[in-house]
Amino acid sequence: MNRLASSALRKGIDPITGLINGNEMMLVIRDHIDLFRRGGGCPPKLIFLDIDRFGGLASMLGEQGIGELLRAFSARLLGAVGRDGVVARGSGDRFFVLFENEAVRDRLVGLFDPPLTILGRAVYAPTSGGAVRYPTDAEGPLQLVRCATLALKWAKRFAPGRIIDFEEGMREDATRARLIENGMREVINDPGKEFRLLYQPKILLETGRLIGVEALMRWDATTVGPVGPSEFIPVAEATHLIVPLGRWLTDTAFQTVKNWREAGYEIELSINVSPVELNSPNFVTELDARRAFYGLRREMIEIEITESHIASDLVVERILRLRRLGYLIAIDDFGRDQSNLSRVVSLPATTLKIDKSVTDGVLHDPRQALVIRSVISLAADLGLRSVVEGLETHDQAVKLREIGANCCQGFYGSRPIDANDIIRMIQVVGLEHYRAVLQAA
Ligand code: C2E
Ligand code: CA
Ligand code: CA
Repeated sequence: MNRLASSALRKGIDPITGLINGNEMMLVIRDHIDLFRRGGGCPPKLIFLDIDRFGGLASMLGEQGIGELLRAFSARLLGAVGRDGVVARGSGDRFFVLFENEAVRDRLVGLFDPPLTILGRAVYAPTSGGAVRYPTDAEGPLQLVRCATLALKWAKRFAPGRIIDFEEGMREDATRARLIENGMREVINDPGKEFRLLYQPKILLETGRLIGVEALMRWDATTVGPVGPSEFIPVAEATHLIVPLGRWLTDTAFQTVKNWREAGYEIELSINVSPVELNSPNFVTELDARRAFYGLRREMIEIEITESHIASDLVVERILRLRRLGYLIAIDDFGRDQSNLSRVVSLPATTLKIDKSVTDGVLHDPRQALVIRSVISLAADLGLRSVVEGLETHDQAVKLREIGANCCQGFYGSRPIDANDIIRMIQVVGLEHYRAVLQAA
């Protein structure tokens, strides 16, 4: 690769990082492909990297901090690649690495898990990547970059923080994502035409009673047929359509809770909030105005946030504000990715939701059972509630009772059901208010 590093000494230099820029990189890729075709060197590989939630970091750090972040990022990247490849900065927070030896890819895995030091403080900049190989995936510089972009988008949606290799199927995924986006734009002014909400009960194992519900979106799209939230939420986030969709969700769910109350049932509601919503201006004020409009009490509304989404000070600040106002805050999917326990406990949360992937192992993997037991007892010591997610079978329920779990959510208690069925269920199992020791934030 050294011969390439020297060919990179042309003009296109990025003034912020001192790396070559994207245009120059295209020439380097072209040169390298030509060289290989003439029988020199090995076939090149390209990785396209992009910092996750860069927008949030940018608003947190300001212009000076972002410059510093980009420099610290490129320094770490250069340190890992060394003389075994060429590093370039594309637009914004996008970086390229061109290399031959697979060892370079290995060095990039987890490279941005530890924080960078920016303006004297630790800043997490988790980074996703898309990887392509010449000539297997594509035959020209532009096509290579296109495939790397698709793999990167795929990584961001399904495996944030990881480097994903390009696969042919991703071309179809990209087409489908566009169809989903178009379909969503068609109904975004009146989502109720095609979107609806289901509510999944949370139950107490001890009494079998219902103690709250989580609102989950469903979409029967005329354009593409029924699409699950795991597929459409990432598209809604990438296009920021999640903001109007989230407004529709809160209106619909708050109206439902109001109806339930008027029918004599005061039911705690959990809603999932995406980091894009949390980052949007006036999120807290708007949410609180909606709540007031429907006359609901804040302590009956829980906001669920996934730990990996809490990457910026702005998000932490918003969560803190919500908590101070009196909303409940749940850390969702706890234990799914590598959870940072000390970070989680430093957040103003009121509930830990233990992920289904942990629950799945409770019967057969003693270590997972131990994880659940420890998290529940830690949560209790911290004055937090805990909810075990994805409980599917009676045997799991028995085991969970044995290790001290009480509040559960999963198909065993009930699948997500519609608002009327919640009332029917309460009439059978009963309703209970679950007020564990909640410490004021
Ligand atoms: P989540 O917040 O972790 O929600 C729980 C998911 O697990 C739901 O999937 C639920 O149907 C499913 N589930 C519950 N119990 C069981 C079980 O026992 N077994 C199995 N196999 N699955 C179970 P769903 O509704 O497909 O939602 C997937 C994800 O999409 C949610 O994960 C959440 O992150 C997101 N999502 C759903 N609705 C919304 C929304 O309104 N706003 C936002 N921002 N995200 C949403
Ligand atoms: Ca959730
Ligand atoms: Ca969850």
